[in-house]
This record gives sequence, structure tokens and C-alpha cells, in this order.
Amino acid sequence: MIKIDGKNESIKKRKVAVIGYGNQGRPQALNLKDGGIDATVILRKGSPSASLAVKEGLRVLNPEEGMKKCDFFIVLIPDEVQTDFFKEHVYHRIREEQSFVFAHGFSYVFGGLELKKYPVDIGLLSPKGPGKALRERFLSGEGLPGVMAVEKDFTGLLRENLISYAFYVGLLQKGLFETTFREETVCDLFGEQISLCGLTVDVMKRSFSALVRRGYSAEMAYFETVFEMKAIVDLIYKDGLEGMRKAISDTAEFGAYLAVEELTDKKMDRRLDQWLDGIESGDFARRWIEEYGKGKEKLYFERKSEKESLIGRTERAMKEKGYL
Ligand code: NAD
Ligand code: MG
Repeated sequence: MIKIDGKNESIKKRKVAVIGYGNQGRPQALNLKDGGIDATVILRKGSPSASLAVKEGLRVLNPEEGMKKCDFFIVLIPDEVQTDFFKEHVYHRIREEQSFVFAHGFSYVFGGLELKKYPVDIGLLSPKGPGKALRERFLSGEGLPGVMAVEKDFTGLLRENLISYAFYVGLLQKGLFETTFREETVCDLFGEQISLCGLTVDVMKRSFSALVRRGYSAEMAYFETVFEMKAIVDLIYKDGLEGMRKAISDTAEFGAYLAVEELTDKKMDRRLDQWLDGIESGDFARRWIEEYGKGKEKLYFERKSEKESLIGRTERAMKEKGYL
């Protein structure tokens, strides 16, 4: 675990550029600016984010100018567009000793990015939380934990620069965990698909539906199976599973152990292992790239179905009534 260890200002000697001004790009650029780092934001010509970045006091350059003037790039555009962005804007302009830092290893590990053959630094610095939290916890001085990886330290300065950069965006107060591109990519995909956004949410939806099927009201079901999740996750975030168990009633805890014992089985573990096989083999990446190529057909279909389902309609109605 790497923590603050004296002042490391090495990033001040680099010409830092944040590529993209979205979920992660905007908070990272703003944190750098507030910390006194003279960072540039690189955006495509005509990008809708450009006027916001300028309004917020940042210098915006297009990729051609940015590649000429800067030498330490944080790549914060969507994973699925990175490979094409490098083909169109980066490879033919690369200069020796430039550094490229990613916040997720997808395009490098699975997406066909060919950066390794160039004489540049390749690193990873991934905040363990959404950009919104990175900004909030920077402003409160608390910081967010992060993970870093050094894939290719061509300059011999990448490690030091990554740690210095991490300090300025607010990723060093809590500590940086050192990993590899592959480990970060596989674990991140598995975590978001299963635990964070996939099965957990599916269980919330299934339990909502079970109550409604039995005739209980949708509002009541929503409170019990969806809304209260936030308080439980806050307890885990603050004090781990142990802290959560302590804060709930013994009735809740006993019932939870019993339900898990009787509703899950070893088959589920085997299915999870197989799902992980699919991520490791690149099969998931292939399916995602294919989906992206088709204009994200399935993604938009699923998003729309959820919105139109009873749970989606219930939450909109509850928002209108002021419950949420
Ligand atoms: P995002 O979707 O918010 O990025 C949008 C930005 O990328 C905008 O500035 C936009 O102008 C630019 N952009 C969009 N399409 C583009 C294109 N075709 N060509 C060039 N620029 C384009 O992305 P994000 O959620 O901030 O994710 C950026 C990276 O950070 C990804 O690698 C992601 O995995 C990683 N990451 C994100 C979060 C998060 O908080 N969302 C957390 C950890 C890691
Ligand atoms: Mg993720």
C-alpha cells in the first residue's frame, strides 16, 4: 500500500493532459487545477464538453495540438472508443518518453490497443469510486483509495510520476494498492458485472417482484428491497461487513444466513467460475466490442425495458410523490 510519504512534486515537471471531460476527466482535471497543476484538457474538435471545461477555467486543446504540447496523458474517454482514438489521433504523433495513463485496462488488455510497441510509458491509475466521489472527497480532504499499475516504465520516472499524480487528484490519502493491468481489468469487469451492477441489482428486482406477485403494494416492496439498500451499503462502506452485521438486528442477521443457505447452491459458484472464465478468455470483451459495433442495440433495449417495467414505473411515481 502506497501512502503519502513526503512531498513528491515530480508531476510538476511534466506537461499533464487529461483526455476527455466526462465522469472521470472532469473531476481529475478540476482536482489538478485546484492543486496548482497546470493541466490541459484534450477534446476532439466540436466536443460538447469543451465549453464546460473552458467555463470551469481549463485550457482545452484538440488532439493534434495536445499531442504536440503535452507529455503526460491521462486517458479518460470511454473504454470502447480508446482503440480508435489512438489510431486516429495518437500513434502517428507519439514522441519518445511520453507517458500514457489509463483508469481501466480494458482497451489495453482486451481491446486491441497497440501501445506497447512504442517507446513510451504505460501506466494505470484507477480511483476506486465514481468521479463524483473523487471530486467530493478531494474537496473534503478525505481522498479516495485507488489502484495503480506500472506496465512499461520507459522513462524510469513513471512510478514516481504516477504516485505524484495520485497525490494531486486525491488518491493518496487513503492509499494506493499496486496491481497489474490484467488483474485490474479482470477484477473490475467481474465486480461490476456480478456484485455491483449485475446480480445484486437482479436480486433486488426479483425480490421486489416476489412481494408484488403475492399482492403486496409496489411502493412497500420498493422501500424494502431497493430503497433501503443504500443504508446497508453505507454501513459496509464505513465499517465493512462486520460493521453492517453489528448495526442490523439479530433477526435480520439470522434470517439472512438462513435465506442464503437455502436459496443458493454450489452450482451458483460453478456458474460464477465459468463467467470468470469468459472474462479472462476475452470472450466478454469480444461480445462488448461486437455490441458497440451494432450501436449498443441490446444495451438500449435492456435500459428501456427496465424503465418501462413495474419497478421502473414505481420508482418514477415514488420520485414524483417525493419519497425518493
Ligand atoms: P465518459 O463516458 O464520462 O467520457 C466522456 C468523455 O469522453 C467526454 O469528455 C467526451 O467528450 C469524450 N468522448 C466520448 N466519446 C468520444 C470519442 N468517440 N472520441 C473521443 N472522445 C470521446 O467516460 P468515464 O466514465 O469518465 O470513463 C473514462 C475512463 O475512466 C474509462 O476507462 C473508465 O473505465 C474509467 N473509469 C471510470 C469511472 C467512472 O467514474 N465512470 C471510474 C473508474 C474508472
Ligand atoms: Mg469499473
